[in-house]
Amino acid sequence: MWNMKIENIKVLKTLLSESRDLIIIPHTNPDGDAIGSCLALSHVLKRNGHNSSVICPNKPPHFLHWSPGFNDILYFDSEPENCQKKIEKSTLIFTLDFNDLNRIGELGDLVKSSSSKKIMIDHHRDPKKYADLMFSDPEIGSTCELLFEIMISLGFEKSIDRDISTCIYLGIMTDTGSFQYSSVTSRTHQIVAQLIDKGINQNEIHNKVYNDSSSSRLKVLGSALSNLNLLEDLKTAYMFLKRNDLEKFDYQKGDSEGIVNYGLSLKNVLFSVIFIEDTNDNNNVKISFRSQGEFSCNEFAGEHFNGGGHINAAGGRNDGNAEDAINKFLKILPNYKEKLIN
Ligand code: 5GP
Ligand code: MN
Repeated sequence: MWNMKIENIKVLKTLLSESRDLIIIPHTNPDGDAIGSCLALSHVLKRNGHNSSVICPNKPPHFLHWSPGFNDILYFDSEPENCQKKIEKSTLIFTLDFNDLNRIGELGDLVKSSSSKKIMIDHHRDPKKYADLMFSDPEIGSTCELLFEIMISLGFEKSIDRDISTCIYLGIMTDTGSFQYSSVTSRTHQIVAQLIDKGINQNEIHNKVYNDSSSSRLKVLGSALSNLNLLEDLKTAYMFLKRNDLEKFDYQKGDSEGIVNYGLSLKNVLFSVIFIEDTNDNNNVKISFRSQGEFSCNEFAGEHFNGGGHINAAGGRNDGNAEDAINKFLKILPNYKEKLIN
């Protein structure tokens, strides 16, 4: 059972009782856990008498567009003034599935300067101290799982209907690699059992997220796999996707999601990395890191690639093109040999 911080729950109850207009914000390029947690929280707050709005820095990939409540989300990149007004009118701001305001770009400045109380609900390591109230637990596999525990502690069990359960399941499923990561516990499955009892259709959710690909996604996957490099003595695999190839295959946002995991399917590989050139910025490369066991992707991404995340999954970025990032990576990696091969 989640180690509930009773004091925090009490403070949250008081804050909620004093607030009507609430804002909920996920990280830029929101994933299933970010969207699932924001929508679940928004639904449950509305059901308990609040006006809540979800403001995303930008739009998520299409495989999340079916989520219950998706059409009510506001996007800061397409309507900044409307979002700013909402934030000015609010008294409480929830930030979900991230722990550093630099993860929401310019929206972060508005949050920082707002007089609203800020509440972080997150499961990434090394949280920054911008929030008035923090629910931060890196032991929990997804923000959705943590949020479920918070909802129960707040006494919202009865408000959790099929739609909210679907949103929570979406986040747990995507952030655990469909229940395969070591972050999955018996409690995770107990929560999922409750969600099933609330009427979710897991098969349908799985199909909407994973089996709704365009041919561009498979072509992008093929391109990344054909660029696979294996560094056997460092138990590492890396791949890359060049801007030209992405354009050739009519790359859509989200097409590259999850590709990095294929590196870990290789025998004896425990660190996998993908370098993806940004199709909107020719001086930027997005990097994803995945590991098995003790090797810390979070530290590696934080120390060298302006990023962070979890022990076994992290992200980062680098200036220049993929070749620049790969050269830097290949220079640094041998320093980690001991950690990689032990
Ligand atoms: P992905 O590689 O799928 O983009 O991200 C893997 C994990 O690392 C996710 O939990 C994501 O939220 C986190 N992450 C990705 N990029 C960054 C970043 O630049 N900074 C931090 N702190 N975390 C990141
Ligand atoms: Mn998450």
